[in-house]
Amino acid sequence: MSSFKPLPLATKISMPFWQALKEQSIQLQQCNSCDGWVFFPRNHCSHCLAHDLTWKPVSGDATLYTYTVARVPTMAEFKDESPQILAVVTLKEGVRMNTTLVGVQEKDIMVGMHLKPVFDQVDVKGNTLLRFTSVDSDLSVLEYQDPLANLARNSQGQVQVPITNLAALNALVTDEFSPWSEPLTVDQGLINGFADLSGDDYWIHTDPEKAAKESPFGTTIAHGSLVQVLQSRLPLTLPYEIVGFNTMVNYGSDRLRFPTPVPAGARIQSRARVKSVASTHKGLQLILEVHIHLVDNDRPSVINELVIFYR
Ligand SMILES: [Zn+2]
Repeated sequence: MSSFKPLPLATKISMPFWQALKEQSIQLQQCNSCDGWVFFPRNHCSHCLAHDLTWKPVSGDATLYTYTVARVPTMAEFKDESPQILAVVTLKEGVRMNTTLVGVQEKDIMVGMHLKPVFDQVDVKGNTLLRFTSVDSDLSVLEYQDPLANLARNSQGQVQVPITNLAALNALVTDEFSPWSEPLTVDQGLINGFADLSGDDYWIHTDPEKAAKESPFGTTIAHGSLVQVLQSRLPLTLPYEIVGFNTMVNYGSDRLRFPTPVPAGARIQSRARVKSVASTHKGLQLILEVHIHLVDNDRPSVINELVIFYR
């Protein structure tokens, strides 16, 4: 399974449960006052209300309390798992959990059957969901399958992601930016050209003498919108190529900021990352977060979250 499916959100209270799953262990809270086991995670004992709970490892031995077979996907993202066997299981400690059964034939499922845990690694970060299977099954871990691993690459080494492969498209989403582009010098000539074109000839951009005396930057600075459009002269090295679409539309920007000015004569460079991917009625929406920086400056001069539609 891959991470484009909605995942449970760990809270401060439930974090130990999710953290343990990453380490292929199940931890439950037990009450120090009445010895009762507690699930879902909370601050107080669900038996005696004492605020005195300790996380403890348990085996995950369980029995099937009830189940249903969902033949229509509960959400479109779960189509590849159909039919899903949605189950409630009772752990040996007495608590019940909602889960899914994996690795069992529908005909072999019986209420009361003995179950064991399966640790399902759902993303590259190691996030793990708790499934269950029959005690007779060999299954104990479902390892993360990188949906990009077996895709073809183009002559530039970019992974070619078909527009129809939602799992692979979602695997492009990352916190890591691409390598820096080649730098470009933003000289006064470029700034003057943009002033003529746009009509914005404010002295802070176009009058080096006055700017030397009066500008807080001690020099003229480029228009924010100039630096933004210079992105086209800073070719990005993205690790992917989306293939199999008819049109690609630039739909504008979700967010555009100019946090740091670019003085005349400075060098700029850019990098980008895929911030999100979503399937919408307008087509596949990809948000490419592009940052332009002065060379060797940690703060961006432009933050532009480009909205691109493929269809
Ligand atoms: Zn208690």
